[in-house]
Amino acid sequence: MTKVETSKTIKATGRSLGADLVGIADLNLLREVETVPADLLDGFQYALSIGVRLPTAVFEQIKDAPTPLYAQVYNNANLLLDQIALRLSSHLEGKGYAALPIPASLPLDMERFSSNLSAKAVANAAGLGWQGKSLLIVTPEHGPRVRFATVLTDMPLSPDQPLKNRCGSCCECSDACPAGAIRNVNTDFHYSSREEALDFQKCADKLVKEFMLLPRVEKPICGICIKVCPWGRKKNWQK
Ligand code: SF4
Ligand code: SF4
Repeated sequence: MTKVETSKTIKATGRSLGADLVGIADLNLLREVETVPADLLDGFQYALSIGVRLPTAVFEQIKDAPTPLYAQVYNNANLLLDQIALRLSSHLEGKGYAALPIPASLPLDMERFSSNLSAKAVANAAGLGWQGKSLLIVTPEHGPRVRFATVLTDMPLSPDQPLKNRCGSCCECSDACPAGAIRNVNTDFHYSSREEALDFQKCADKLVKEFMLLPRVEKPICGICIKVCPWGRKKNWQK
């Protein structure tokens, strides 16, 4: 089987396990990305980025704060992603390749919201979406209403190409952000640092000091910049 055929097969396997989107990232694009531990990517050449779409109706409930319903959906999407990543890793190991699942949400540093490896950076490198002005990954199919997990592997695959930014003159997320954190700065492919796009402390303060304290939310989530993005309102999956 060629690398292209193998890649199509592994993506189909991911979708059969429940993923809505599967892309392949060349890890050479991610060697400068911070990881925990620092040698996390050693021995791996590719990363599978797995995306699970969040139901669009849950965002219609969000007005100026996250809802308990959104918190539950967020949890369940993460659980599903971790299950898919685990099963895909077993599948790859069964074929004789190394595979390491990276959880969808495992914050190691609650001040910086950092994890073993940024699932967003992998999804971006895997061509599943561009880094929007909100720093969310905006997919052509579902906008930013998608959560991601990652599987590192040494299986020889044919990587996808990153997408060019399509935010253009849109400023819906910066206008709607309740913390005034989004700077409305454009980029072609990715920002040099998250501070270029976002006043991270303003966003973090809103999430940790206010939204996380809401009853039955109890986690640093928001949902507002996800809700307002026009790409998420396009119901492309219905076509
Ligand atoms: S998560 Fe909320 S506070 Fe943070 S940038 Fe998005 S809209 Fe603003
Ligand atoms: S709301 Fe507009 S500017 Fe913000 S990420 Fe979506 S397309 Fe880009």
